[in-house]
Amino acid sequence: MDILNIMTASEKQTLAQFLDTAADSLRDGYHRDHGQYDFSNDAITPVSNTTATDPPPSTSYPPSDSLAAISAEIHTCTRCQLCKTRKNVVPGEGVDHPLVLVIGEGPGADEDATGRPFVGPAGQLLDRMLDSKGQIGLYRNKNCFIANTVKCRPPGNRDPLPEETAACAPFLERQIAALNPKIILCVGRVAAHIMLKNEESMGALRGKFFDFHRTVDSIPPNQRFDSTLHPIPLLATYHPSALLRNEDYKKPAWEDLKMLRAKLIELVPEFAAAEKN
Ligand code: URA
Repeated sequence: MDILNIMTASEKQTLAQFLDTAADSLRDGYHRDHGQYDFSNDAITPVSNTTATDPPPSTSYPPSDSLAAISAEIHTCTRCQLCKTRKNVVPGEGVDHPLVLVIGEGPGADEDATGRPFVGPAGQLLDRMLDSKGQIGLYRNKNCFIANTVKCRPPGNRDPLPEETAACAPFLERQIAALNPKIILCVGRVAAHIMLKNEESMGALRGKFFDFHRTVDSIPPNQRFDSTLHPIPLLATYHPSALLRNEDYKKPAWEDLKMLRAKLIELVPEFAAAEKN
C-alpha cells in the first residue's frame, strides 16, 4: 500500500514543504521557491480497501500522457491558424530522457516539408554546434531532444504570433514534463523570450544560466515531492541561422556551448567520459 494514498491533502502539503526544506538544507542551505502543490484532487484510498497486491499508482501525467500521446495530439491540432497553412506538424525529435532539450522558434520550409525539426541549413549547423567534433558531445539520436515553441510553420518564416505560441505552449509544457531534461538550451531570441517571459536582447540573455520554473501542473503528481525537479537550468544562445548570417556570433555561441557542457558535467559527471557519436 502506498502511504501517499491514505494521506489527506493538508498532510501531503505539510510533508511536501518539509521535504523541500530538508532537500534545500542538504543541498546548499539556500531555500528555493518550490511553488505551490495542489493535492486537492488526489483520491484517498481507504485503508481497509487496499492490499499488498494493489498495483502501483500511475506514473504518467495526465494518465496515459507520453511523448507519443503528445505527438498524436499535435498531429490533429487545430488550436491556431497555423494548422491551415502547414504541410506537416513538427512535434520534435530525439531521445526520451535527454540531457538537453533544445528549443527553437518554429519550423521553417524544410521542417514543414519533412515533419522533422532543424533539418535545413540552420539545423545542420545546430547539429555541428552540439557535436563540435566531440568537444561538446551532444546529439539528437543519443542525448538530446529538439523541439520548437510552435509545432507548425509560421508562413514566410515570420515570428510566431502571441496567440500562436499561447495555443502551442501546453504541448511544450507537457513535453518538458515527459522529457524531464537536465538542461534546456534555447536557441534564438524568440524561444528565449517565451521561456524566460522577458524581452531582453540575446546579448543580455546569453552567457548565463537561468532557473526555469515549471508550473506545478506540468509536474507529474507522483514526482512533486522530488525537489530536484525544481528548477531546470536554462541557457540561451544565438540561433544557428544568426550564425549563418553573422560570423561575429560564432565566438560567443562557442563560449555558451562550453558553459553548457561544463554544467552538464557538474550535473551528470559520467557525461565527461561519454563517447563521441
Ligand atoms: N529554425 C527553428 O527555430 N526551428 C526549426 O525547427 C528550424 C529552423
